[in-house]
Amino acid sequence: RCCVRPPMPWFGMDIGGTLTKLIYFEPKDRTAQEAEEEKETIKVIHSYLIGNVAYGKTGIRDVHLEMCNQTIGGRTGSLHFIRFPTCEMSAFIDLAKVKNFSSLATGICATGGGAYKFEEEFKQRVNLSMYKFDELDCLIKGIHYIDRHNLSECYYWKNPGDPDTCEKVPFDFHDPYPYLVVNVGSGVSILAVRAYNDYKRVSGTSLGGGTFFGLCCLLTNCDTFEEAIALASKGDNTKVDKRVKDIYGGDYNRFHLPGDIVASSFGQMHLKDKREQSSREDLARATLTTITNNIGSIARMCAVTEKIERVVFVGNFLRVNTISMKLLAFAMEFWSDGAMKALFLEHEGYFGAMGCMMEYIS
Ligand code: ADP
Repeated sequence: RCCVRPPMPWFGMDIGGTLTKLIYFEPKDRTAQEAEEEKETIKVIHSYLIGNVAYGKTGIRDVHLEMCNQTIGGRTGSLHFIRFPTCEMSAFIDLAKVKNFSSLATGICATGGGAYKFEEEFKQRVNLSMYKFDELDCLIKGIHYIDRHNLSECYYWKNPGDPDTCEKVPFDFHDPYPYLVVNVGSGVSILAVRAYNDYKRVSGTSLGGGTFFGLCCLLTNCDTFEEAIALASKGDNTKVDKRVKDIYGGDYNRFHLPGDIVASSFGQMHLKDKREQSSREDLARATLTTITNNIGSIARMCAVTEKIERVVFVGNFLRVNTISMKLLAFAMEFWSDGAMKALFLEHEGYFGAMGCMMEYIS
């Protein structure tokens, strides 16, 4: 057994602007002797993580994403995926203190902006250093690891414009290059990946998942992302937006613009009666459509500039959000005349944390 690997427990943490993602590797190949010698603290942390699916008021283990039988750094075990709001970091540090984490390790592996922002607080309150890794390096590493080790990771939406026949279909991504990654977190980063070790950040926008969630809270008074998505799923954006046909009375044929597409997002809201007729659900749907179409449009321009046809959308904005996935899939296909394909990955927002763990172990 390789002795240069860092001691257990193995974690990877991605401290984002909205959510903190934590991956825990649970070794399943311990010898009887190893199990016997294992420190009490490891046992306590292990049984706390594995024995629960919710932690405190806001921590969640995404059990459906668990990956079994993974061999990493010469060890075989399971990967567990946990998330909590970054605004609860203080409670997480308290937990690390209570569970006596600093008796096991001198530091914690982290990526994302929070690895910098919270470095001092971790040092002062629990005497843990931050081993920091770049978030985009981690994102790409994580995508490569998870995609290669989970057969059903990558998929696309077939017939995204037709609710009756639209379905999720697995996509064989084993020969991936080149591809574009559109990471929709609080904000958006767009990367062009040409080979295992060759990527660049080509663009980004501040109008991202955080913008959708923030505007939705303002407009509908909702409290959670799940509620925002549930409202949007019952709403109708055409009560809020101005479509081509609201302006032309039909299609704008000369430039092949169908009457049903949005010409002006929120374009009816300057009218008092239209405002009064639009519900919270309609406003949520219009906000989701606006942000999603803008991201789709920037992604498509990047794909054209970079001469890339496969576009992989990741990030937690797509969590429980099939509306946006189908919209993106439809928009990419429609505006490129079928040349471009929108792809999605099951582990959505966890790639940075995964790559962070890989950086630590390898
Ligand atoms: P970041 O690293 O910037 O935190 P993520 O990839 O974790 O980015 O995505 C954050 C976005 O995911 C939020 O802006 C919101 O749109 C969406 N989201 C999905 N689930 C949640 C949740 N439970 N709480 C808050 N935001 C969520």
